[in-house]
Amino acid sequence: MEYDVAIIGAGAAGCSAAITARQRNMSTLVLYAGDGALGKTKVIDNYPGFPDITGPDLLYKLRDHAQYMGAELVRGLVRRVMPLGDAFSILAGNDLYTAKTIILAMGTARVRLLDGEEALVGQGVSYCATCDGMFYKGGTVLVVASDHEAVEEAIYLSTLAKVLYVKEKPHDTGDLPAEITVLPGKPLSFSLKGEQIVLMTDQGEVVADGAFVLRPAVAMTQLIPEVATENGKIVLDKDLQTSIPGVFAAGDIASAPLQAAKAVGDGNVAILSAAKHLILNKAKSKGEVQ
Ligand SMILES: Cc1cc2nc3c(=O)[nH]c(=O)nc-3n(C[C@H](O)[C@H](O)[C@H](O)COP(=O)(O)OP(=O)(O)OC[C@H]3O[C@@H](n4cnc5c(N)ncnc54)[C@H](O)[C@@H]3O)c2cc1C
Repeated sequence: MEYDVAIIGAGAAGCSAAITARQRNMSTLVLYAGDGALGKTKVIDNYPGFPDITGPDLLYKLRDHAQYMGAELVRGLVRRVMPLGDAFSILAGNDLYTAKTIILAMGTARVRLLDGEEALVGQGVSYCATCDGMFYKGGTVLVVASDHEAVEEAIYLSTLAKVLYVKEKPHDTGDLPAEITVLPGKPLSFSLKGEQIVLMTDQGEVVADGAFVLRPAVAMTQLIPEVATENGKIVLDKDLQTSIPGVFAAGDIASAPLQAAKAVGDGNVAILSAAKHLILNKAKSKGEVQ
């Protein structure tokens, strides 16, 4: 199924966009990795109409409303959005979705890349075990893991290759099978040695055929590298459209102030712009406008 809109993030901005998308009768998919900033907020006392509401209470009210309107909410970390003619292909977890428009509503989650990581994406560094694991069949791969979610991917990779597991952040790995080796050391940087990838840690070098970096968040530059940014900020027009027609941004990821009410307003602007984009595209395909 090709959705009219895929919204990435189910916080204040994403839920607001989803509610109005459904009001405009758009088929709506919301993909979200977790609870975002509202999940961490004890009390919000400046959200209109809800004095003293807790962040999680507000978040679940917004999500319930989006679902009540008919939006489909699916939990999954979006790793990549790929332009595909007039639509977009979205990789979330290990599943692929298609949508005509995209709303980026991922909040402020920042990802610190390792030195050398960005330059080696696609040349030995990957973020998706299911997509790229087969390239390393019979070889040795590194898993650089930030949390327990990486364990399942590491186990999948161990059916294809020898797996060396390095923790970027401390987490429990008690359920890793014995054939996966957990190495000590804090990852610092990536480089190439011939066709092999080298991970430098504070305990020394680890060499492998490929590396899978598995974090609970994805850098904007990895998620959709085609979107223009300036000083780390997404370039947006007044309709909250990015440099790619059909891709919009809302909420904390779009601009300051980082406030729930502003994120909700952004979600509303972005989805109305997406609805206008769909109408124009439809008219163009019928030859009604140039
Ligand atoms: C401690 C604290 C106190 C605050 N107090 C207030 C206050 O009093 N008043 C106020 O107005 N605001 C307050 N805020 C700010 C407010 O919470 C944010 O401005 C608001 O939540 C932003 O909404 P958002 O939808 O842009 O992002 P978020 O609410 O952060 O939602 C982001 C969503 O994107 C998802 N996501 C991120 N990356 C991916 C990915 N790759 N794939 C799939 N999903 C992804 C997250 O899981 C989440 O669902 C506070 C924030 C904090 C942290």
